[in-house]
Amino acid sequence: MFRRITESPSETAALAALFGARIKDGVVICLEGDLGAGKTCFVQGLAGGLDVKSEVTSPTYNLMNIYEGRFPIYHFDLYRLETEEELEEIGFYEYANATGSVILIEWPDRFTDALPDDYIHVKIERTLNGDNERCIILSLAGLRYEALFKELNQFC
Ligand code: ADP
Ligand code: MG
Repeated sequence: MFRRITESPSETAALAALFGARIKDGVVICLEGDLGAGKTCFVQGLAGGLDVKSEVTSPTYNLMNIYEGRFPIYHFDLYRLETEEELEEIGFYEYANATGSVILIEWPDRFTDALPDDYIHVKIERTLNGDNERCIILSLAGLRYEALFKELNQFC
């Protein structure tokens, strides 16, 4: 586990862009944090690092957004989903277990049983230090993305 402090949305996006630039293969990334923590901000930066040119917005209402970058990117927001049947309906399981694409999952804690075994976990927390400071904690579930995780710790 390692953590980084950012002091503005652009700093969070810049950190995430470094992360995105390091991605050389499919990966699953879970983003945990309260409403307004900065999950979508992080995804926007990450998408930039993956050379996505289109606009990246929150999929809160449409549940999943698809972007084209160096890899196909599937961006889920599980906040509004109630049941595992709904997850199945939006094709979550097929996407989450596909290889060669980047899967970004906001609110993974809503469906912990549905998550794949291997992913990089990004937790974003406000701090007690003003409105714009965030603590970003990265950790690893499973070992599949260990090499990438170590690289992130070194270069991001
Ligand atoms: P979430 O997807 O977690 O609900 P968003 O990324 O949509 O959150 O929104 C984060 C909000 O917090 C934005 O209004 C952004 O401007 C603000 N913000 C302030 N400081 C930061 C920071 N250090 N990192 C990310 N967002 C920040
Ligand atoms: Mg969001």
